[in-house]
Amino acid sequence: MSVPQGRRAVLAGMLALTGAALAASAPLPAVPWPGAVVVRGEGSVVVGDRAVAGLLADLAARADRARRRIAAIWGPVRPVVLFPETDAQAAVLAGASGVAATRGLAALATADRVVVLPGGYARLSEVGRDVVLTHELVHVATGATRGGRVPMWLSEGFADYVGYAGTGLDVRRVAAELAREVRAGVLPDRLPGPGDFAPGGARLPQVYEEAWLACRYVAARFGERALVRLYGSDVGTTLGLTAAEFTAGWRDHLRKELA
Ligand SMILES: [Zn+2]
Repeated sequence: MSVPQGRRAVLAGMLALTGAALAASAPLPAVPWPGAVVVRGEGSVVVGDRAVAGLLADLAARADRARRRIAAIWGPVRPVVLFPETDAQAAVLAGASGVAATRGLAALATADRVVVLPGGYARLSEVGRDVVLTHELVHVATGATRGGRVPMWLSEGFADYVGYAGTGLDVRRVAAELAREVRAGVLPDRLPGPGDFAPGGARLPQVYEEAWLACRYVAARFGERALVRLYGSDVGTTLGLTAAEFTAGWRDHLRKELA
């Protein structure tokens, strides 16, 4: 559910993909680990280590910004963000199958919260922190970790759509890896599937960018409301397109935006 390592140069070399479904997390205990403190934002709750209180307040402010951005496009979310002291603790809190499963990550989403990996998070740029936090909180808001009917290009693309909304970053810069391919005349012939999002894939950056651009295409041509309606629906019902027509329209959009 996260953002892959080395994915976008613009975010300053980040993060791997979790890929693996994470266990649904238990209710937040009063004190999740010894020495943890709770910092409340305007509409968010951050739990972290006392030693990094300034960082927790900053995180709460970012979580509040992310909450507003998500509310404007999707709907309400009440961010709960855990900021443990080590990446190993983060893996445990997220119910990951092991530290190796979270290597290179900056944050990941469970059903009802976001767990930040302090090592990966520290390597992010300022804008990268906002994008990653928003991306993961979108997964919480939409219930992406509960699995189900939403194709992966849509759940990942939509999380990035909201994550990058309002950042003012240029599309060719954010999707630099895919833009290089498109400029070289190479276009993907189908939307990415779950296998393409598997950790370690050579085209992982491009796969996320393809998904992001598919969502931007829907919003540009049919409106942002249509993109939201697409969740839990399909392109035929929502957009009146066959799968082939949708793919062709997306490819045209890639050419127009990135070439
Ligand atoms: Zn994700």
